[in-house]
This record gives sequence, structure tokens and C-alpha cells, in this order.
Amino acid sequence: MPAKLVIGNWKMNTRSQSAEALLAALLRDASTNNDQVAIAAPAVYLQRLFAQLQDGAIRLAAQDVSRYAADGAYTGELSAEMLADCGCTYVLVGHSERRQYFAETDAALLSKVCNVMAAGMVPVFCVGETLAQREQGGYLEVIHQQLALLTDIPEGGCVVAYEPVWAIGTGKVASLDQVAEIHDAIKIWCLQNVNASANIRVLYGGSVKADNAAPILATKNVDGVLVGGASLDAEIFKVICQAAGISI
Ligand code: PEP
Repeated sequence: MPAKLVIGNWKMNTRSQSAEALLAALLRDASTNNDQVAIAAPAVYLQRLFAQLQDGAIRLAAQDVSRYAADGAYTGELSAEMLADCGCTYVLVGHSERRQYFAETDAALLSKVCNVMAAGMVPVFCVGETLAQREQGGYLEVIHQQLALLTDIPEGGCVVAYEPVWAIGTGKVASLDQVAEIHDAIKIWCLQNVNASANIRVLYGGSVKADNAAPILATKNVDGVLVGGASLDAEIFKVICQAAGISI
């Protein structure tokens, strides 16, 4: 079985002490140099969490990045180089919550993906349809439209996370048939449209929990999972990692 990737997205949760305690609980049994697990922590805590990581037992991810690459007058922004400097390996780009609340455009998202890759990190590009789009039946077109910007990405590692918007934080999980259909479609689309050296892995995200992780991870073309709410509980997150064959 190819190695899976599990990323926990803490979103806008934790404080410095609880973030350190959560990471400490994850590190307690983690085998060294495990590059299959990452935590997308709030940006203000990345640096102190990086200091807490020994031997890269868990990787860090950022939840967003500036569309602007160069240093300059962009008040409030964090560049890809700054995130790399704080120890990030991965950066989430285009999470549906950012698309929904911050009106991110495709042009901005393409800049973000390219900036992340240029800074030597791996973008985790999130796609997914809303409930209305699924019910109307045009969900595959929606996914293809969202993927389209990857046509222009440079060589290097890139991860796609399929996260149906209706399954994020709702407790509703896509059925295994739904997951398989979209993951197949994403893999085929990438093979046909993206530079082969982009080496695309496809994660599923949307209410992944301890009790549903194993069958999702066993589904064809699922290369890992992106976990929101369940990543805030160390014991539950560990069970999900174990379902991915990762000893942590
Ligand atoms: C997410 O935030 O990417 C996510 C999948 O959240 P949850 O697992 O809580 O649905």
C-alpha cells in the first residue's frame, strides 16, 4: 500500500498552551521522522510548535498564504517564504472556508500555489462542491473547473484535497461510492492535464472521524485524509493515523 498522508487542520482553534499540549500528546508515541502526518496550526503558533517538534516526527502546515510572493507593503499578509522559515512543509490553499468567507479568486489561488512551491513547500489545494451543486448534478464540472488552475503549476509535489463542502464540519460523510467517483475523476483529470512531475496525491476531507477513517482510507485513489474537528482530539487523531497505517 503506498504511504498515506494525514493532515490535521486545527482551523481557528487552540491557544499557545493548548496547542503545545495537543502537539505534545501527538508526539508522545510518534515514531521519529514521520513525514506522513502534518498539523495545520494557526499561523501565530507555527514557530513555537516547530521548536517543539523533534526530528521532524510530525510536519507543520499553514492554513493559508499570501498571494504576494515578494516582501513589501501588504499589511497583515504572510508570505510563503515566511511560512517556510517557520518550518512549514505544507500549506492549505483554497480551503472552502476561505473561498466562502474571503472570496478567493482563481487568480489568487494560482499565485498562492505557485508561491508555496517556489518556497519549497507542498500546496494542499482544496476542491469540493456545495450541497446545491451536488443536488443539481453538475458536481464533476465544478471539481474540474476548480482543478483547472493546476494546469499551469510548475514541477514539484502537489496535493489535492477533495472536500465536499456539505461534509465539512457537518458530520455528514460522503459515501464510499461518492468518494471513489470523485477521486477517480481527479486522478484522471490530473493525468490528462497536469505536468506528470507534479506528482499529485489526493486526500479526502469532510467529517473524517475515528470510526469512518479506515474504509475511506481503503478506497481506491484515496492517498490520505484532511481532518478538521477530529484533529483537535489527540487520541481520535491517532486512531485516524493508525487507520492510515501510520504509527503515532
Ligand atoms: C476541514 O476543515 O478541512 C475538514 C474536513 O473539517 P471536518 O473534518 O471537521 O469536517
